[in-house]
Amino acid sequence: MKLKILGSGSIYSKDNSASYLIDNKILVDVPNGTCKILKRIEVEPNDISDIVITHFHGDHYFDMPFMLLSKITANNGICNVYCDESGENKIYNLTKLAFPNKVDKINQSFKYNTSINFSIGNYIVEKVKLEHEEGIEANGYIFKERDIKIGFTGDTGICQGIKLMAKECNYLICDCTALKGKKLHIGVDEITDLAKKYKNCIFYTTHMGNGVREAIISLNIKNLIPLNDYDEFLI
Ligand SMILES: [Zn+2]
Repeated sequence: MKLKILGSGSIYSKDNSASYLIDNKILVDVPNGTCKILKRIEVEPNDISDIVITHFHGDHYFDMPFMLLSKITANNGICNVYCDESGENKIYNLTKLAFPNKVDKINQSFKYNTSINFSIGNYIVEKVKLEHEEGIEANGYIFKERDIKIGFTGDTGICQGIKLMAKECNYLICDCTALKGKKLHIGVDEITDLAKKYKNCIFYTTHMGNGVREAIISLNIKNLIPLNDYDEFLI
């Protein structure tokens, strides 16, 4: 997997909002600014073939209308969108607000998939239920390629799902928003415990608020690494 970090910050930080590009064509989350960031790294938004959305808070999907507009302008085929059952309506309504005269044409450019297990190219993908905010479904995704498992949590507090992802994954791109964990988000205190317990997993922290990156660096834990915008890995 070629993994590019488009954003590593929470909405309150100066970093880009958390989002990831896989193999230059698969997006995990589409927050504010995604299309502009793609253009800056010389990837055309209309070349994205698959979009995986962890949950429907604005800082995880509000660039979808621009992504979709690029798709119809280029007229280069259907884009697969993997999300929860509420996603199709939410994306339609947001796109209608942004481009009322184009919404129906834009909507024809997507194919929605709400399955728990699916595949994208060579990846077998598993959706894992997490716990974030009341009334908002939150899902992590585990991408499996050969024997390597790479997980993306999106936003979550500590729950059964996150423990399962930590246990299963070789690499986990993991929410760590604040210094102290709360119900909605994992904190540095909690991810430190996870990294010590699940030593076979490398935890890359993301969705970080102010001061979180520095706190993680100062801990100097081998399998706990803060991400930076535009980092690139081959896994
Ligand atoms: Zn959220």
